[in-house]
Amino acid sequence: MRPFRHFNAESLDAAISILNTYKERAQVVAGGTDLLGIFKDDIHAVYPEILVNIKTITGLSYINEDTDGLKIGALTKLHQIETNQVINEKHPMLAEAAHAVASPQIKNMGTISGNICQEMRCWYYRYPENMFHCTRKGGKFCNALTGENRYHSIFGAVRVDDPPCSLNCPATVNVPSYLSKIREGDFFGAVETLLAANPLPAITGRVCPHFCEEECNRGEFDEAVSIRSIERFMGDYILLNAKEIIKPPEIDTGNRVAIVGSGPAGLSAAYYLRRLGHNVVVYDRMEEPGGMLTYGIPAYRLPKDVVRHHVKALRDAGIEFRLKTDVGNKIILYDLKKDFDSIFLASGAWKQPSIGIENEGLTKSGLEFLTNVNLGVKEVPEKRVVVIGGGNVAVDVGITALRLGAEQVTLVCLESREGMPALELEVEQALEEGIKLMPSWGPLKVLESNGKVAGIELVRCTSVFDDECRFSPTFDRAVKQTIAADQIIMAVGQKTNFTFLDPELPLKIERDLIAVDEDTQETSIPGVFAGGDVTSGPATVIQAIAAGRRAAEAIDRYFKGVEKQEEEKDERRASPLLKFNSDYLIRTNRAKRQQLPISERNISSEDDFGLDQSEIETEANRCFNCGCVAVSPSDIAPALIALDAKIKTTKRTIEAEDFFAAKPMKSTILDPDELVTEIQIPAPKPGSETSYSKFRIRKSIDFPIVSVATVFNMDSGKINEARIVLGAVAPVPLRVKEVEYFLKGKEIGEEVAEEASAIAVKGANPLAMNEYKVQIVKALVKRAILAVAAQV
Ligand code: FAD
Repeated sequence: MRPFRHFNAESLDAAISILNTYKERAQVVAGGTDLLGIFKDDIHAVYPEILVNIKTITGLSYINEDTDGLKIGALTKLHQIETNQVINEKHPMLAEAAHAVASPQIKNMGTISGNICQEMRCWYYRYPENMFHCTRKGGKFCNALTGENRYHSIFGAVRVDDPPCSLNCPATVNVPSYLSKIREGDFFGAVETLLAANPLPAITGRVCPHFCEEECNRGEFDEAVSIRSIERFMGDYILLNAKEIIKPPEIDTGNRVAIVGSGPAGLSAAYYLRRLGHNVVVYDRMEEPGGMLTYGIPAYRLPKDVVRHHVKALRDAGIEFRLKTDVGNKIILYDLKKDFDSIFLASGAWKQPSIGIENEGLTKSGLEFLTNVNLGVKEVPEKRVVVIGGGNVAVDVGITALRLGAEQVTLVCLESREGMPALELEVEQALEEGIKLMPSWGPLKVLESNGKVAGIELVRCTSVFDDECRFSPTFDRAVKQTIAADQIIMAVGQKTNFTFLDPELPLKIERDLIAVDEDTQETSIPGVFAGGDVTSGPATVIQAIAAGRRAAEAIDRYFKGVEKQEEEKDERRASPLLKFNSDYLIRTNRAKRQQLPISERNISSEDDFGLDQSEIETEANRCFNCGCVAVSPSDIAPALIALDAKIKTTKRTIEAEDFFAAKPMKSTILDPDELVTEIQIPAPKPGSETSYSKFRIRKSIDFPIVSVATVFNMDSGKINEARIVLGAVAPVPLRVKEVEYFLKGKEIGEEVAEEASAIAVKGANPLAMNEYKVQIVKALVKRAILAVAAQV
């Protein structure tokens, strides 16, 4: 067993004080039956340093009856409950549930509060040595979804945390949620979910590095879901139906916001601000909006019409664009500050940095080269082109040069082939089209002849980053080579340009970027916000979009004069249960994007055709809809919900029905420093009949495979009111309200019981191996109903 410190609490206050001091390094132990087993079995990656024993607190073990009902102290042993005369008389179902708990030894040690707070039941969760760092332990995946799941939930999974695809997306797009909606045929709902986090999906669906797919759990089963292609399809649908989807707001707040820069950061902020009813004017020094989307990214990856359609949709929603307006030149920032209620700076990073090599002046800027091509200036490159750089921009420059007619294009970069920052897919495409790669070489000097480029001298690069991951290349000066070239294009990153800043508005600049609060994007000057490449350095479209959204939300709060609230996570009874679909488990390859054959590729038509509707639906069906399917194993929990009990804690009194949750390392909604103090059960109503039944594999020791707790209020042979709760069939105990409603006013008979049992499993969504549990639920529900008839 792992070593731990032990603290015997003498009072609730003392226990809470230790919990607050040690936070997640402390854990409460009541009966100890669950927790000590978990310690012994070594199933967690991280263990608490200190155990706070609350058994030593006096006065918390009692069973008292008063006019309101029964009060049971949190530390009352299960054995006391099982044998207590009042409980056996008034709530025999609770006595039965306590009796059903495991072995006599556990009932002698285990307390009622410990029983309802115990950890979830799952073979993967409980596997010794923590081999499966599952989603309930803060990991990525619920192994039971695709593996052994005969004892797991038959009513679906529960999302214990944001799924890995969303977590890895800078804009935290809720991918599984919109994919579920596509599966349910609610395409409009899917689009709304997507737009809530990303207003430019037709663009990201084409150019995003799809961080989401990197973390998709499906990738470990066969291949990641083609999320980017789905997003592209949805984005195109939005553009086709823009009038219905991107509408002007219904309110006008009267607030005015100026946005400097119409790249993805500016467009994103404009969209979300407009949605909130603010008036937005976007300034850009260029003739067309879009920033790098229009002038940087080549049209064969992102057709310019896609950007134009997005901009048109924003214009139609009431966003004003003032183009060919260079802020800092045509209009000064200080005046914008005076004329508008808030400003968002999203001016990007457009300056070519110098790397300080001999004859650098003879080289060309990669960004300028691409901008000219996007402007329609078709300069045919020289015969032999060398591109310096290993990122996506370098690949774009190389492919564009080749497609424009260069005879030979060589990409030279400091990084090794594996370390190249460009996306693997893009590098493969470059190779496929005939570009030569020279990884691990650094430029030493540009060779010239008669004032023109003649070649470049290279030196072997031995490493790019130092021990602290800072850019600090080292070279082996003994290894050099020279290659002949007619043109050298530099694609070694971009820098910000602050000529537009105003001495009257002295913004804080750090490492050549506008310094901002990373939660709100607010600069050092109140009311002035900034985001995108100008605050992050050259990054990605989706990062710029995320920054734009954060800024829009912060500007809205700035207008309202409110602080950012901690995101309200719904701690009550977890989210709706997620549907499991056995189709997920059929191994399939992801849908592949169709592309133009190499011989037909050019600089203006899109290479990629995207997926069609049926391919999108098939892909959406491949999503695991990741959640946890472990079950709540407590025998006492369903009994308390059926009895309409309340759980009193050191902070509040909670309905038993709202007490249970499925969160990482948690099965209740309790705060880390909150302790259960008492269980309150209302006095039974006249004519009340209760029952608890449990199906398990062995008589003692085992947890329920299925349990059913019922309370029926009978009146003249009919059911007046019913409460039926199922245990061990879902991540939380499940009240089957539809059955309760059906039974109301009914006389019990075989037929009614049969129908009720069928309703009880109507929403069942069994996993690959646990269909049999559905039959057990039906049998136990029917038996419980018929048993009442026998007693009446
Ligand atoms: P920008 O897109 O740079 O927009 C800034 C805007 O501000 C410009 O329109 C500019 O004209 C305007 N502006 C600047 N100063 C002023 C001023 N003083 N007054 C008025 N207007 C001003 N990312 C991806 O995710 N996927 C890719 O495939 C991808 N490919 C890329 C390819 C290339 C060639 C390049 C250069 C970048 C690529 N990126 C890619 C990166 C991505 O385009 C940027 O991270 C993103 O566009 C940054 O958005 P932004 O809004 O901050 O700035």
